[in-house]
Amino acid sequence: MRCVLVGPPGAGKGTQAQFLAAHYSIPHISTGDIFRANLKAGTDLGNQAKSFMDRGELVPDSVTNEMVKDRLTHDDVANGFLLDGFPRNVAQAEVLRAILAEKKTPLHAVLEFSLADEEIIARLLQRAEIEKREDDKEDVIKRRLEVYAEQTAPIISFYRNEGLLISISAVGNIEDITANAISALSRLEQ
Ligand code: ADP
Repeated sequence: MRCVLVGPPGAGKGTQAQFLAAHYSIPHISTGDIFRANLKAGTDLGNQAKSFMDRGELVPDSVTNEMVKDRLTHDDVANGFLLDGFPRNVAQAEVLRAILAEKKTPLHAVLEFSLADEEIIARLLQRAEIEKREDDKEDVIKRRLEVYAEQTAPIISFYRNEGLLISISAVGNIEDITANAISALSRLEQ
């Protein structure tokens, strides 16, 4: 199963990705998590990403694409992967398509988690209280939502045109959403 997860910040992609990765026994690759781990470890990559993340902007494609390209050479992706947070714009989607075409391992699906704007903001403010993540401050949240609408949302039509898009609602309890995702993905296998 080679799958991309798409959805606005706060849609619960990370939570769902963990359950889906366990279900399919494939790695969950979150570019946000990789950047945060690098920030914490004080690596060059972390330092390059920091100012963009703090402002809610995308880290430049040159940095992000190389990081993902490298991650997709690891042995653990042999049976598939769940990509969470990448691609985040059409240029990244094209790079991903090229990387996978070269390896002759195209995507099986792109799973979109959909959620109304009001619900997104409520969830992110709630998460800010709990996780105290640097980029969950109100003005940065606002910017991340703008960046999502302007730069990331266009990948949904990109993948619809490729015939890869599956949309499910991100509202409801966590187990039901996971079950919906698995049943939508299993329809693909038939
Ligand atoms: P969320 O989905 O909650 O906004 P993520 O953890 O996926 O958060 O990402 C946090 C930040 O990491 C983003 O706001 C951005 O600065 C950076 N980032 C993550 N993935 C990418 C990407 N594919 N391209 C550019 N920047 C990214």
